[in-house]
Parts: sequence; structure tokens; C-alpha cells
Amino acid sequence: MGKPKGKTPSLLTITTGKPTVHKCGRATPCDRCGESVVTGATCFQIPKMANGFTKRPIFCIACTSDIVAQTKTDVAAIEEAIKLCV
Ligand SMILES: [Zn+2]
Repeated sequence: MGKPKGKTPSLLTITTGKPTVHKCGRATPCDRCGESVVTGATCFQIPKMANGFTKRPIFCIACTSDIVAQTKTDVAAIEEAIKLCV
């Protein structure tokens, strides 16, 4: 895994759909850490809105795992906020 840039995004902020398992047809850099995912390796494709278009960048397994963990943190925070309202 390369060096990820910035704060870990969560699925709540970046995605316009579910991450899907993807097999790289050619070596593709991970959108977050820049590490190349080699041909035939498993990665995740996470649809993302950019300038009004849906892009489908790929993420290495380590970065996907970080993003999912960040998503859980964000969801837990929302759940806490909801509890305060009811
Ligand atoms: Zn990565």
C-alpha cells in the first residue's frame, strides 16, 4: 500500500453506489494510495461523482477496508445524533 492522501473518505461522502468487487484487466493505480493494482488482482470499484459525472475509480483492498471502517465511524456518529432526537 502506498501513501494515502488526506483524510480517509467514507462511503457516505464519496460514493454514488455500492462498492463492487472488481478484477483489474490491466494494472490500475488505486485512487487513494496510488499503489498499482496488478492485472488480474482483486480490487474494489467505488462509483464516485466528479464534476457531474460518475467515475468508477478502483481502490486496493487495504484502502477499501479503511474507507469501510471510516463509514462505520460516520454511521455510528449519525446513529448517536438520531438517538438524541428521539
Ligand atoms: Zn490503495
